[in-house]
This record gives sequence, C-alpha cells and structure tokens, in this order.
Amino acid sequence: RQEPQSLLKEHHPEAHIGKVFGIVSGKGGVGKSMVTSQLAVTMRRRGHQVGILDADVTGPSIPKAFGIHGQATGSEAGLYPMVSKTGIQVMSTNLLLPNETDPVIWRGPVISGVVQQFWTDVLWNCDYLFVDMPPGTGDVSLSVFQSIPLDGIVIVASPQELVSMVVEKAVKMAEMMEVPIVGLVENMSYVTCPDCGKQIHLFGQGKTAEAAERHHLPVLAEMPIDPALAALTDAGDIESFQGSWLEAAADKLEGK
Ligand code: ADP
Repeated sequence: RQEPQSLLKEHHPEAHIGKVFGIVSGKGGVGKSMVTSQLAVTMRRRGHQVGILDADVTGPSIPKAFGIHGQATGSEAGLYPMVSKTGIQVMSTNLLLPNETDPVIWRGPVISGVVQQFWTDVLWNCDYLFVDMPPGTGDVSLSVFQSIPLDGIVIVASPQELVSMVVEKAVKMAEMMEVPIVGLVENMSYVTCPDCGKQIHLFGQGKTAEAAERHHLPVLAEMPIDPALAALTDAGDIESFQGSWLEAAADKLEGK
C-alpha cells in the first residue's frame, strides 16, 4: 500500500487518512450515495473524524445531500475539503465547477486523474474516508480502484436488480484488486405502511441474502424506502435524519 499523501504531510502534518472504504453498486440509482452518506453520518455520530471522497465524478450527489454549495479553496499545500454541518469533510467535482449544474463530460482518463488528485492533493484529516465509487464494474470503477488504496468495499444492491449477477461481478472485481469485501447492504428492501405498519416487500424477499450466502458475505443491512429520508436528502439536510439502519455495518467498520 502506497503511503498516502506523503508529500502533503511534509507541509501539513495534520493531514491524515485512516481506514478507506469504497461503496460500490452494479448500476446507478440504487442508493450507493445514500449508503455512503448514511455510513459517514453514523460514524460521525460515533465521534470519528469522517470524510467522503465523491468519486462518482459524472453524477456527484454527495454535496447536495449535505447542503454543501460553493467552490472548494486551496493553498500551496493542497485543496481543502468542504465541511458539513456536523463536521464531515467532503470533496467532489461539484465543489470545483464554477456552476454546480454544469455537466461533467470528461473521458475516462481525465476522470481517474481527478479522483487520484482527490486522494493525493486534498488535505483530509479523517479516521474513516468513504469513497462513493462510480456506478458499475466498468473501466471507470476499475481505474478508481487502482487510484485509491481501499481497505474494504461495501456492495449496495436493490432487490429489483439481478442481485446475484451484480454481487458476482463486484466480488470478482474486488478479488482482482485484492480488496476485502465488508458485506452487502440491500437498499429499497421494503416500504412500511404509514397506517398499519406492515412491511411491504415490493420487489420480493431474500434475493440479497441468497447472493450473500453464495459468496459467504454478511448482509450488513436491509434498508427500507423511507420518504422522510428522501425528503431530507432533497433538502440538503441528510444529517438531520434520525434513523440509522447501518449500526451493524458501522460496528464492522470499527472492527467490532
Ligand atoms: P446511486 O448513488 O446509486 O446512483 P442515490 O443514492 O443517489 O443512488 O439514490 C437515488 C435516489 O433514491 C436519490 O434521490 C435518493 O435520495 C433516493 N433514495 C435512495 N435510497 C433511498 C431510501 N432508502 N429511501 C428513500 N429514498 C432513497
């Protein structure tokens, strides 16, 4: 494992990165960014220094969920991450563009160059850095895997996907990169009826558990579709969401 930010450290002794976890998914829209954000919030509530490196360069959604706008600043020593209301450090392409609604139409090598700089040139100071990976298991994800030394990955899947195939691809990619898999998070598993409290499994039950078992991986959480969570995310106030389905996942990341 390469020494992270070795050059930066000479100028900024406080720059530091502890454990690094990548959050991956088979495709976009399954809640990869949501899980990344929720993991960061959960770890922050436990008192850790936490950062989010938004490597989903062409579809960055992290700053908006945390209500972070504007442009990041830097000095000769490096680029400063922007900081959320509860103190979570964030770096994303959206914080570098003059206009956050500008599309990012960069090709693969440019994207991986940016992600690499998010790793080497940003003055992180965190015990846990979460990397919101590009969706899928294609070349962009692969180059991110190669740019950042990950300590582990968390796979996010929703039950309406071909879960077993998604998991299989992610497992193979992780094996190729020699990165351990922490476990699976199933998102959008069910909705709870607001009147009677019954859980409705819209897309069927048990698919993620089956895929997990086949690969000897733990299911870290089954997260429901929660309109309150969606509303807070849209409002840029994800840190106010009180629930957390990711306590077991957080225990695992802490090595418990
Ligand atoms: P991805 O990163 O996989 O592309 P996102 O995390 O951006 O997906 O989620 C896609 C959309 O679904 C977002 O608008 C997000 O707020 C919403 N969403 C994700 N998970 C949930 C959930 N468990 N409950 C409610 N809304 C969710």
